[in-house]
Amino acid sequence: MSMVDNILKNELFEAFANASANIYIYVCDMKKDYSRWSQNTVKDFGMSGEYLENAGAQWMEKVHPDDRAAYLEDIDACFSGRSTRHSCQYRAKNIYNEYVWLECKGSVINDENGEPAVFAGLMMRLDNQNKYDPLTHLLTGFEMQNYDFSRQTGSLLFLGINDFRKINNVGGYQYGDKVLKFLAERLVQAAGKKDIVYRLQGDEFIVLSQDKTREDMLRLFETISDICGKRSTFPEGIRNFTLSGGIVSWPEDGANYRELLDNLSHSYEYARENRRGQAVAFSDQIIESYERNLRLQNALAESIKNDFCGFELYFQPILDSGTRRIIGCESLLRWKSAKIQDVAPYEFIRILESNGQIRDVGIWVMETALRHAAKWQKRFGDIYVSFNVSYLQLMDSEFVERLIESAKRSGVDVSRVMVELTESCQVEDIALLSQHFDRLRGMGFKIAMDDFGTEYATFGILHDVSMDVLKIDQKFVRGLLREGNITDLAIIESVVDMCRRLSIQTVAEGVETEEIQNMVQNIGVSYLQGFLYSRPVPEAEFERMLIEREIGA
Ligand code: C2E
Ligand code: CA
Ligand code: CA
Repeated sequence: MSMVDNILKNELFEAFANASANIYIYVCDMKKDYSRWSQNTVKDFGMSGEYLENAGAQWMEKVHPDDRAAYLEDIDACFSGRSTRHSCQYRAKNIYNEYVWLECKGSVINDENGEPAVFAGLMMRLDNQNKYDPLTHLLTGFEMQNYDFSRQTGSLLFLGINDFRKINNVGGYQYGDKVLKFLAERLVQAAGKKDIVYRLQGDEFIVLSQDKTREDMLRLFETISDICGKRSTFPEGIRNFTLSGGIVSWPEDGANYRELLDNLSHSYEYARENRRGQAVAFSDQIIESYERNLRLQNALAESIKNDFCGFELYFQPILDSGTRRIIGCESLLRWKSAKIQDVAPYEFIRILESNGQIRDVGIWVMETALRHAAKWQKRFGDIYVSFNVSYLQLMDSEFVERLIESAKRSGVDVSRVMVELTESCQVEDIALLSQHFDRLRGMGFKIAMDDFGTEYATFGILHDVSMDVLKIDQKFVRGLLREGNITDLAIIESVVDMCRRLSIQTVAEGVETEEIQNMVQNIGVSYLQGFLYSRPVPEAEFERMLIEREIGA
C-alpha cells in the first residue's frame, strides 16, 4: 500500500472521526483528488459518501457564497504547493439548510519528492459555546458574522485600547480584565438601545448600529474616549487609558460582513499607527495606506533576500558635553528602494518590527556597525559606535550569542561598542532582559537605554537593570524650551543627578539649538547628540568629521 493509501485507510482516522460530534475530519490524496470524510461530515452536511472523488466541488457548493473567495484562496495555496497550512473560518450549509460557522485547519504532507501528496485536516463547529464572551457577557465577534448586512443601512465602530498589552503586563491580568469589563459596561451605556456591542479578541470591541451615521459613531467614540481618559469618573483602582478606533458604514463601505470587517480593521490599524487616540472613518486614503504597507512589506522582503540590498547605515556623531569633541556615533538604519520613494525610517522599521523581519535586519545592522567600529578604532583610536536593538531582538538569546561571536571575529574593542535598547517601555520580562544585559556587560559591551522619559514605566527600569548609559529622549529635551516647563526640567535634573550617583552616563538627544545645548550642559548631561552638530550622515561623511577631529579643525 502506498503512503497515501495507508493514510486513507488508516484505523486512526476512524478513531479520531468518532471522537467528537462537533469536529469533522477529512483526508485527501491530493494527486488523485480522492478523499475520505468522517461519518458525521457525511451525515450533517449531506455529502454523497464517505469516500469521494473530486469532493472539493461538492464542498464548495456548501460554503457560503460570501466566504467562497477567502476559502478558495486558502485551499488553493495548499494544492498549488505555496503553503502547507490551511486555516480558515467560513460558513457551510448543513442538511437543514442552515449556515454553521466552521473553523477549518488542515496541513499538507509532502511525498518523497517534496510534492504535495496528502491533505488532512479538521473542521470545528463554532456555535453556541462562542455566542457570549464569558468576561464581559457581550456577544462575541462570531455572532456578528450572522448579522444580515444586506438588509438595512448602518455603521460599525471598532474600538481598541492603546497599549493594552502593557496595561496587562504592568497591572496583571486581573487588572486587565477589570479594565475590559469597565470599558464594556461604559460602551453599552453610551451606545443606543438598539445598538449591539460585541467583544472580539482581547481589547477589541465593535458597536453595530442600524441608525447611526459615521458622524454619530465618531461622537460615540469621543464620548467613550472622554470617559476612559478622565481619572475622576473611574471606579476605585482603574487608571485612565486611551482608545483608537475605526468606522465604516454600509452599504457604501462594503456589501457583506467580510468586506466591512476588512475595511473596518484597516481603518482601525490606520488610526493606531497614524492617529493614535482617535477614530478614523474608512476612506480611499486608508486603502492607499494599506496597499503601500503591503508593497513596502514585499519590497523589504525582496531587499532582505537580495543580501540586504538597499539597506544602509548612517552615522550621527555624539559629542562630549565638556569638550564638544566627537567621541563616537550612533548607527541609524536607512532603506532605499527604486520602487517606493521616500520611506522614512520609522515607517519601514515599524513594518520590520511588526512582522519579525527585524531579526534578520538587526543582525545585518549589528554586523555592519561592528565592521565600521573595528575600522574606525584602528584608524582613529577611541571611537564609540552604538547601534539600535529593539526589545524583541534582545529577548532572543541567539542574537546575543551572535553579537558576541561577531564581535570576536571583527576584532573590535567591545568596550567601545554600545547596544541601545529602543522602546524600553515595552519591557515585559525584566528578569530575562537583565540576564542578557549582564551577559553582554560581562563581555565588556556597553548598554544604553534609549528614549528615556517617553513613558512613565521606564523610570522603574533604572532600578531593575544595570546599564552604562541613559539616553534622554529628544521630545523631553526639546520640551525644555517650552515656556514655564519646570516639571520636565526638574525631572531631567533629578534623573541626571541619580544617574551620576549610579555611575550611569547620560546623553541628551535632539540638541537642535545653542539654547538647548546650554541648558543640558548646565544640568550636567555627559554627552550631546543632535542636528546642531550634525544630522545622521553616510559613512564617508562621518569619516571626514573624524579626520577633522584629528587635526583639531
Ligand atoms: P532613535 O534611536 O531615538 O534615534 C534618534 C533619532 O533622532 C534618529 O531618527 C535621528 O535622525 C533623530 N535625531 C537626531 N538628532 C535630532 C535632532 O536634533 N532633532 C530631531 N528632530 N531629530 C534628531 P531616525 O534615524 O529617523 O530613527 C528613528 C528611530 O528608528 C530611531 O530612534 C530608532 O528607534 C529606530 N532605529 C533606527 N535605526 C535602527 C536600527 O538599526 N534598529 C532598530 N531596531 N531601530 C532603529
Ligand atoms: Ca537610538
Ligand atoms: Ca532615542
